[in-house]
Amino acid sequence: MKRSTVNILASYIDSLHPIIYINHFDFKVIDDTIAQIAVNTKCIEFNNALGAVDFKTKSPMYECDLEHFLRLVMDDGFEHETFLVLKDVHGELNNPKIIALLKRIAENNLYNDNYEATILIVSEIVVIPRELENYITVFDIPLPAISEIHSLIRTFTNDLGISVDEDVINDIAISFKGLNEFQIRQILNLAYQDGGCIDKDDKQLILKEKEQFIKKSGMLEIVNFTETIDDIGGLENLKEWLERKAKIFANLDKAIRFGVDVPKGIMIIGMPGCGKSLTAKATASLFEIPLVRLDVGRLLGKYVGESEGNMRKALRLAEAISPCVLWIDEIEKAFAGIGGEGSGNDVTTRLFGQFLTWMQEKENTVFIVATANDISRLPPEFLRKGRFDELFFVDLPNGEERRKIIDIHLKKRNKWNKSIDSIALIKETKGFNGADLEAVIKDTIERTFIEGKTTITTEDLMKSVKDTKSISSTLKDEISQIKDTVSKIDIKPASIPEKTL
Ligand code: ADP
Repeated sequence: MKRSTVNILASYIDSLHPIIYINHFDFKVIDDTIAQIAVNTKCIEFNNALGAVDFKTKSPMYECDLEHFLRLVMDDGFEHETFLVLKDVHGELNNPKIIALLKRIAENNLYNDNYEATILIVSEIVVIPRELENYITVFDIPLPAISEIHSLIRTFTNDLGISVDEDVINDIAISFKGLNEFQIRQILNLAYQDGGCIDKDDKQLILKEKEQFIKKSGMLEIVNFTETIDDIGGLENLKEWLERKAKIFANLDKAIRFGVDVPKGIMIIGMPGCGKSLTAKATASLFEIPLVRLDVGRLLGKYVGESEGNMRKALRLAEAISPCVLWIDEIEKAFAGIGGEGSGNDVTTRLFGQFLTWMQEKENTVFIVATANDISRLPPEFLRKGRFDELFFVDLPNGEERRKIIDIHLKKRNKWNKSIDSIALIKETKGFNGADLEAVIKDTIERTFIEGKTTITTEDLMKSVKDTKSISSTLKDEISQIKDTVSKIDIKPASIPEKTL
């Protein structure tokens, strides 16, 4: 474990943090860290599976439950400087007796000069009972920085006696960002076994394995996509804004040194099926950074405080992977029920507050793209200036935009030809969204194929248009609700008005 981590943990203990929650999965790593700090300190360990165990040898000492254990050892702090190391006890942290015992130890630690016991809870799942919020400090082992990743790779290759170019190390080190030491070593091993060396080609393997780790953590999802900004028909204002920000991301280091603020993110609100998700993907492709999706529903845990712990982990992971685009799809659903009655809503309200604070304070290179259809139920503070760089409204495509969308989808399938009468199509597709237009094209191509034709005509397209029920007819009420809500807020149109095009 890095020296700095040991120092930070030691300083927490010295500055009277009575309960330190160490959020980590690898108990061996944590034991080593604690052992380095506990030179003159008695360590007493409780393991949820075995009861009291000897901290040094790990052999079971006596079987007991956590309550018993705490009662037995709580007064040790009057005799020696003591660490009470509790492993995997997150499931017990909803038990009022356990909470009361932990609180008593914590209060002794803080207010009794003759008492010197610190509780170290070690678990991969963070559960913080409300009653202990003021006593618990969560200690996250920081993920390795680029320079540390460099030295990890160098140590690994030196140990094996293989030489690797500095260029290669620089190149692959960036791909390891967001992973912990253990995971980095595991992937390096895999790469070495694969080809007997470490070279540039291993980057793909690293990215694939990294994706697996991030997937397994269940907090964030890496989204693979092929869409680019050219796949979006219309939304010229929004695209131009993104293209400007892309210049900052392309030279992030330089821009920051020049004094440019790192872009925080955008909120895209508007009609369903009009290119909001498409824009999230195109942003990542334009900025040339990975796209990761935050699914708030997935963060909800069954223990008290677990959801907040998960949110913290997810945001930390996003920071570690950064620069990246963090996409929150249908944000109004993710944070539905905020401020309402009931314990579920309580959790959502807290998660929302946590997310807002993070956004407000964030000084990292995570670019947020939040998308939403209807924001009438979102609290107004979310849209306040300073959180997002800009809010954009995506309306149903105007005529010129519909023409562009039709062209894009025909060209994508190699079926565009000069004879297609776009004016006629524009007239007949009023009220269609991008997804409707895409469906028209797919439908036409399928039909013409079945009919044995080789090219597509305006009439073929018209037939599909007539057979398609547009969003404006199927979701009439939702659409007027969205229009009504956005008319009340300060928001930029994503499109340029038709006549000025
Ligand atoms: P939403 O706004 O609900 O997120 P999506 O971006 O997922 O909608 O759009 C669904 C599909 O419709 C896209 O994958 C794309 O094929 C098509 N589409 C929607 N809007 C556009 C657009 N402006 N340009 C090109 N295709 C579009």
